[in-house]
Amino acid sequence: MVKISDYARMSALEAVQTALHKAKENEQYNALLSLTEDRALRRAQAVDGGEITGRLAGIPFVVKDNFLAYGAPTTAASTLLKEFMAPIQATAVEKLEAEGAICIGKANLDAFAHGGSTENSAYGPAKNSHDTSRVAGGSSGGSAVVTALDIVPFALGTDTGGSIRQPASFNGVVGVKPTYGTVSRYGVVAMASSTDTIGTFATTADDAALVMDIMAGTDERDMTTLPDFFVPTTLDKKLTIGVVKQFMTDDVDADVRQLVRGYIEKAKSDGHTIVEVDLPMIEYSLAMYYIIVPAEISSNLARYDGIRYGTRAEGVKTLAELYGKTRDQGFVTENKRRIMIGSYVLSSGFFDAYYQKAQKARTLLINEFNTLFQTCDVLVGPVSPTPAFKLGENTADPVKMYLADIMTVAPSLAGVPAISVPAGVTEGGLPVGVQLIGQQKSDALLLAFAKSLEEDN
Ligand code: GLN
Repeated sequence: MVKISDYARMSALEAVQTALHKAKENEQYNALLSLTEDRALRRAQAVDGGEITGRLAGIPFVVKDNFLAYGAPTTAASTLLKEFMAPIQATAVEKLEAEGAICIGKANLDAFAHGGSTENSAYGPAKNSHDTSRVAGGSSGGSAVVTALDIVPFALGTDTGGSIRQPASFNGVVGVKPTYGTVSRYGVVAMASSTDTIGTFATTADDAALVMDIMAGTDERDMTTLPDFFVPTTLDKKLTIGVVKQFMTDDVDADVRQLVRGYIEKAKSDGHTIVEVDLPMIEYSLAMYYIIVPAEISSNLARYDGIRYGTRAEGVKTLAELYGKTRDQGFVTENKRRIMIGSYVLSSGFFDAYYQKAQKARTLLINEFNTLFQTCDVLVGPVSPTPAFKLGENTADPVKMYLADIMTVAPSLAGVPAISVPAGVTEGGLPVGVQLIGQQKSDALLLAFAKSLEEDN
């Protein structure tokens, strides 16, 4: 697969033209909602003319369409923001541009990042890179697909409960959900502020580490950002790897378990110590997640009222009608479902029973992780119980769709880093990822470990 260094060998114009050409050739995947062609070509000329330099000079990339970026609208895959032109750029995009990287387009997602398949996009689903009858995964499905198709060597996504890791797994690329607070969320459409993270897809652990290194660091516009701790490293010691028992049960597809076991065997033969560990609170993690996250969504999405942002409903007579119709027309069903659940669990009669209880359970989950990290460097398991499922297979039953998030939501609730690394393909040719979870700020270690086990190492 194409790496950053492959694009670095070309002139910036050639690199950008190549990426744009590949993007147009692969339109049937519906992975991109727009191209930022004019701006990209102008920036390429500036790189070739020596006006822009940096560690990613002339390297094309794609951003999920919930990042504010110049050159095309920022839709969050909704009709509400169909024509919304960003007045500023996300800090993450600014930092990459400062190193010479060139954004060529904006990737498809589940509207407002609510989902795990990209089927909730108002612009139709993205298709899986290995089988177009299957989902891309989500919510950052488009970003995973453009990376897997070698359109660009890296693409940005957001991960609130698995939205980078799961599509990375479904498309056979590396996906990084960093420690909460690693990268500024400024200029990224908010979903759930206490678990939203900014990360990347790439084809190698090294490329992912470079991109994360550039994006990480304090931003005065996001008070939750951590001082930059991300230092790419190489693995110089043997680790203790904990295999999470709850992730390897019969509920997980046999071929997924087999590929993950294969990865663990490889780690073992490299001299790492393998132990089995218990994370009992996992059983409650989906319940916690689908209370806390909708609660935060209902609050964050209150701003889309047709007055301050986006498309306004027409032919209305009262203010209430303006709000109501704008939101009814602009949000997809899944957005509305979450706003309703969130409003319910935050309402005065139910706050204690649901929201507060979920937050208490979250603390217990965090404690369990902390205990395990006293003895384990890395926890390992699958990313998802299945490979990419068929388009339409889970759309009729939202709970079925939520159940597929069972392995990714716990690290999000705990704010710990978790990455998805290719573990091979099933007999049917579908990629499967292995999830590596570490303690807070161990992001670079996870990537170094992943690199040590990469195929050509
Ligand atoms: N699939 C999860 C959800 O629907 C994760 C979404 C995300 O990380 N943005 O909430």
